[in-house]
Amino acid sequence: MAKKRIAIIGAGLGGLSAAVRLANAGFDVDVFEQNNDAGGKAGSLIFNGFRFDTGPSLLTMPNVLKELFSECGENLQNHLHLKKLNIICKYFYHDGSVINAFSEINEFGKEIERSTHEKQKTLKNYFNYCKTIYDLTAELFLYKSPQQASTYLSMRAISTLFQIKSIDPFRTVHQANSLFFRDSKIIQLFDRYATYNGSNPYLAPATLNIIPHVEYSMGSYVTRGGIFSISKALKQLAENKGVNFYFNAKVEKIEVTRKSTRGIVLGGKFYPYNAVLSNIDVLTTYKNIIDVDSKKVIDKLSKHDLSTSALVFYWGVKGKNEQLEVHNILFSEDYKKEFNDLFTNKVIHNDPTIYIYISSKYEPSDAPKDCENWFVMINTPPNINQNWEDEVKRFRKIILDKIKKTISADIEDKIIAEKILTPIDLEIRTGSYNGSIYGISSNDKFAAFLRHPNFSKDISGLYFCGGSVHPGGGIPLVILSGKIASDMIKKKYS
Ligand SMILES: Cc1cc2nc3c(=O)[nH]c(=O)nc-3n(C[C@H](O)[C@H](O)[C@H](O)COP(=O)(O)OP(=O)(O)OC[C@H]3O[C@@H](n4cnc5c(N)ncnc54)[C@H](O)[C@@H]3O)c2cc1C
Repeated sequence: MAKKRIAIIGAGLGGLSAAVRLANAGFDVDVFEQNNDAGGKAGSLIFNGFRFDTGPSLLTMPNVLKELFSECGENLQNHLHLKKLNIICKYFYHDGSVINAFSEINEFGKEIERSTHEKQKTLKNYFNYCKTIYDLTAELFLYKSPQQASTYLSMRAISTLFQIKSIDPFRTVHQANSLFFRDSKIIQLFDRYATYNGSNPYLAPATLNIIPHVEYSMGSYVTRGGIFSISKALKQLAENKGVNFYFNAKVEKIEVTRKSTRGIVLGGKFYPYNAVLSNIDVLTTYKNIIDVDSKKVIDKLSKHDLSTSALVFYWGVKGKNEQLEVHNILFSEDYKKEFNDLFTNKVIHNDPTIYIYISSKYEPSDAPKDCENWFVMINTPPNINQNWEDEVKRFRKIILDKIKKTISADIEDKIIAEKILTPIDLEIRTGSYNGSIYGISSNDKFAAFLRHPNFSKDISGLYFCGGSVHPGGGIPLVILSGKIASDMIKKKYS
């Protein structure tokens, strides 16, 4: 019997995860990517002797990658060299204090006892609380689709539903953290995890406190060759399994007849497929690529806040800064105001929290001798036609001043190479709707149920994976989205 043919649009990490799994299950898989390489947001930028990861900089839940490789009979270690971080992130506060977030919980506990009024015991209790949320939700909400009845047919699922209070959806991240801790610096540190999917800690449900468990108890990693090596390894694995890649191939249309997907249109030509899996942002897919009226779905998704976007400066810097770690945060003074600006006023806060990632600290070949590659990012609202040229100028200065003030490093004259990423660039280069990184935000207690599912309820043969659909954004979750979508395709077409 002829193999069933699947088209995957987009070679982001979600699309790659699905491509590997479907090819491994015997499907004939073609991946169409508008750019000239795989990775999407997890790309690589090389200029003037510097190399940068374009987007993600930290890997959590490496088990998700391990599972993907072992599903194909491969050992992850033979394809990727993961390095566990000792200091996950170094936090700098406006009052001059510094906290190293050690991955080892006792060491982290000692650090917070040294620098704040919090006790090690409180930290341990907090991590136990985060673990409870993970244990109750991971299988149900990360590995399966909450929009499918079959998900609820296990004892574990029933038990989770009976313990809904323990997954903490009725308090916000900030409310829960403020009840655990008294020290505003530690509250700010843990509130920050809501930004991992572009959300507001003052609105997002405390269920997102699953993230500290994932980061500290399960470990945080970087990879030799930078995070981009994950995209490269998955593309290689897909090719080994027989996936065909078409680069510089921007799909124009998903053809639908009588509520059923027929194939795709590329370069004005129609190519038939049994099913189509879109790895592009779901709103972009419905608005620009599906050739039937999708107003109902678009209206439903548009009711919710979009997640944040980002302004990123990729700076090649002369000299080495000994104060900074691989990952660093320079916090804003008024976190609540920062999020109010981002989500309500839809402007960048004038004292933004700054994230600095320097991969050359663990991968020296990413920068010339005696130099470093600084990836400097601030959160922004999605693109609503702001004047990004002006914003770049304004925030370049604000960022440089804040770096100077916080870590006494005057780097302006040491920047010898520069490129910039704005929300518009993100939209153009990856298809993210208005440059929002993670689709709709999780600023709602029912967030887990509001994300678009990995399949279309109205169009047969149309599937979705990637950061804008279930289970959400970030490397491990988009890889799981590829798993959930490919499981659905396997079930229907095998
Ligand atoms: C600045 C930044 C920092 C981040 N930091 C982290 C981090 O530290 N840790 C973490 O886990 N995650 C992080 N993330 C999030 C993570 O990068 C994303 O969630 C993940 O990489 C998205 O994968 P995806 O499967 O959704 O695909 P995407 O990366 O969105 O890729 C979609 C692909 O579809 C292609 N495409 C779009 N339209 C078409 C078309 N018409 N035809 C063909 N191809 C098309 C695009 O070119 C793109 O390659 C960060 C993201 C950004 C932007």
